[in-house]
Amino acid sequence: MRWDREVDVLIFGAGMGGMCAALFASLDGLDVLLCEKTDQVGGTTSTSAGTIWIPGSNQAKRDGVPDKIGDARRFLDAEIGPRALEQREAFLQAGPAALDTLEASTDVKFVAPPMHPDYHSNQPGRALAGRALAPLPFDGRLLGKDFDRVRPPIAPFMVLGGMMVGKLDIPYLLKPFGSVANFMAASKLLLRHATDRLRFKRGTRLVMGNALVGRLFYSLRQRNVPIEYGAKLVELVKSNGRVEGAVVDIGDKRQTLRARRAIILATGGFGADTKLQKQYNANAPIEHATAFAGATGDGFKAGQAAGGAIDANHMMDSFYFPSSLNGEINFPHILLDRAKPGLIAVNKDGRRFVNESNSYHDFVEAMLRTNSVSPCIPAWLVCDRSFIRDYGIGLLHPGAGRREIERYIADGYLKRAETLMELAAQIGVDGRNLVRTVQEHNRYAETGVDEAFGKGGTEYNQFNGDPANKPNPCLRPIQHAPYFAVAVYPSTMGTCVGLATDGDARVLDERGEPIGGLYAVGNDMASLFRGVYVGPGITLGPALVFAYRAVMDVASKARLAPVVPG
Ligand SMILES: Cc1cc2nc3c(=O)[nH]c(=O)nc-3n(C[C@H](O)[C@H](O)[C@H](O)COP(=O)(O)OP(=O)(O)OC[C@H]3O[C@@H](n4cnc5c(N)ncnc54)[C@H](O)[C@@H]3O)c2cc1C
Repeated sequence: MRWDREVDVLIFGAGMGGMCAALFASLDGLDVLLCEKTDQVGGTTSTSAGTIWIPGSNQAKRDGVPDKIGDARRFLDAEIGPRALEQREAFLQAGPAALDTLEASTDVKFVAPPMHPDYHSNQPGRALAGRALAPLPFDGRLLGKDFDRVRPPIAPFMVLGGMMVGKLDIPYLLKPFGSVANFMAASKLLLRHATDRLRFKRGTRLVMGNALVGRLFYSLRQRNVPIEYGAKLVELVKSNGRVEGAVVDIGDKRQTLRARRAIILATGGFGADTKLQKQYNANAPIEHATAFAGATGDGFKAGQAAGGAIDANHMMDSFYFPSSLNGEINFPHILLDRAKPGLIAVNKDGRRFVNESNSYHDFVEAMLRTNSVSPCIPAWLVCDRSFIRDYGIGLLHPGAGRREIERYIADGYLKRAETLMELAAQIGVDGRNLVRTVQEHNRYAETGVDEAFGKGGTEYNQFNGDPANKPNPCLRPIQHAPYFAVAVYPSTMGTCVGLATDGDARVLDERGEPIGGLYAVGNDMASLFRGVYVGPGITLGPALVFAYRAVMDVASKARLAPVVPG
């Protein structure tokens, strides 16, 4: 084989998994090349909320919300049973060291919010805070003209032509005249944005996943780690049972790149490939993706062609959001509306089918589970005018005025009617049942106990509700016309099915033996959570930790204790 270029470690995909792996490899003094098929870094990571789930970290202790790995182990036992034990232990044991290494030597920094509960907060060993860490905001100006290399967030996460809005910014921006502090904070944000727009195409105050990507990218630049853009993995080259290199399309040239030590696949899984999704979950009518369009399973397919086994033994093949659609815009209903008081979700029968304040993934799980009995794709989120005023719904901001409402009605995104029967006729659901469902829901709102589905029954539910609403922060009557509805569909955020790996992210063949020189991280690797969405950050957290473990293994460092099932 004639090679065009040789490095120690060749990494495909500049998202969370790939950029972390490149940083760790560089910190270990390895000669590394990061190949990215587009002309921007970030992949789905850049459009994400950027939360990482890593139990027992020193960052959580530092921020006053300590967490114990033993508790996380109990929690995972309750959530997923004795599955993926080797990966799970590898993840739990290496998590704190991986985070400390990044924080000590790079600009990738996190904070542990005072409250960020696991999604099934009624399970033993659950944490209400300390496991989910958020990236610190990042000043994109530090990247100079390379700021354009950071893939922007999805449009609904920005306002005023490109200003990112984090959860903590929302109260200031909604009520700028509510207090002096609000006014100062809102003015600072707006002034900064106005100044940014003189020099940049969008705001440079980055939060959430965009801040995470900005920090990873900045740190890679600081360490002079080379990134080859427009460099697409085509296939892996194997010799004597070991992966030696790859065929890569770089621009319009096909090249062969040799990896002296290892290739790390980090191309983001196949969340945007509906054909592959159907192959692994034929019964789920999934037509939409919130994952970045480039998540087409390139690494997954190349790994499989090189002999990698596919681990498809998951409760669900992917992780999902309920999304509303308006033209090209796919809005994930993550936490701003479903859990708030005064909203229900109904199926075609006009009946509720789920605790609306459960996690986005559990919401979709209920959609898919019940769809064959009573169609709920789409499901309809139903509320009244006061709900939109107080909380907004989907693309409509809280306090949305007449003009905003009329615009979305004209688009067909929002449905409006003076009576529930009329609304039901518009959205094609059973009217009598809808009236009965709303009456029943309103009764629960009075008592504060949702006897049907337990809305507001867990700490996680309540966290996303409205603490000012009594007695249940997630329940209040739907009673003042006009009534509104928005359709939501299952939408893939990322895949769980992936290449089978061991605790060091080595890709395994059908016999369970590692394929020499080949690793997979991020969504190219099968999820250790086996299709159960246990808490915020369960794809980005493992992407970071397994990038660390992979590089430690490549560098043959004996820093990590052997994995012993706990
Ligand atoms: C709205 C939203 C919010 C989310 N919030 C969170 C959250 O808070 N926490 C969490 O854990 N998860 C979250 N997720 C999911 C999470 O973003 C993804 O699971 C994660 O980003 C996947 O990381 P990755 O490194 O595997 O892939 P990506 O970040 O998608 O990166 C893959 C990269 O590989 C490149 N690539 C693809 N094919 C090739 C090829 N052939 N050659 C070279 N390069 C290639 C792509 O262009 C891309 O840049 C969210 C998702 C969405 C949509």
